[in-house]
Amino acid sequence: MRYAFAPPPVPAVPVAGSDALFPVRRIYCVGRNYAAHAREMGADPEREPPFFFCKSADAIQAGGGAVAYPPMTNDYQHEVELVVAIGAGGADIAAARAAEHVFGYAVGLDMTRRDLQAALKAKGRPWEMGKSFDASAPVGAIHRVAQCGHPRSGAIRLAVDGAERQRGDLSEMIWSVEAIIAQLSRYVALAPGDLIFTGTPAGVGAVRRGQRLLAAIDGLGELAVTFV
Ligand code: MN
Repeated sequence: MRYAFAPPPVPAVPVAGSDALFPVRRIYCVGRNYAAHAREMGADPEREPPFFFCKSADAIQAGGGAVAYPPMTNDYQHEVELVVAIGAGGADIAAARAAEHVFGYAVGLDMTRRDLQAALKAKGRPWEMGKSFDASAPVGAIHRVAQCGHPRSGAIRLAVDGAERQRGDLSEMIWSVEAIIAQLSRYVALAPGDLIFTGTPAGVGAVRRGQRLLAAIDGLGELAVTFV
């Protein structure tokens, strides 16, 4: 047997300090993992715990750069997030062992068509068209744990055309990286190549064509994206 046509390339993200690529299998995202952002979205972080949703693996835009402003939105919003790259799979992973499953970390953007998301949410419909679409997941180089350790505190921030819009600290996450891995692996068996976007701090907002986003996390470098 053979494929009817050439299979699509595997989405991949460069590994910092090497010529290796991290092959992306799936993308999971955590919603409302910072209390201040949950409140700015109209939710009560004391009453509603974080939750999961997905993006297609081919939504990856490795390294940022020039990205097409997407269709079907007039409210395209930035969400800077710590991205966890899974290197060893497993189901029902104990939080105490979760760090052993991490390959590395990166800075990422969970780009969101907020107007579509809000309209779908209001009707109780799936969010996908607001969250999962072409180039909706820019990601910077993945830093191996051996290089960056397990960042659990430090600034996470985003500027638009040089003006700071988002700033938080990794220590403010409601679910820690270990808790996220433990929770998610109760629902699905994690596998090497899975990426987890761990939620965004407060300050999300719209970006316009021609604007330049600069996202950064202490110890993980920067990610620059311009929407054209
Ligand atoms: Mn997000």
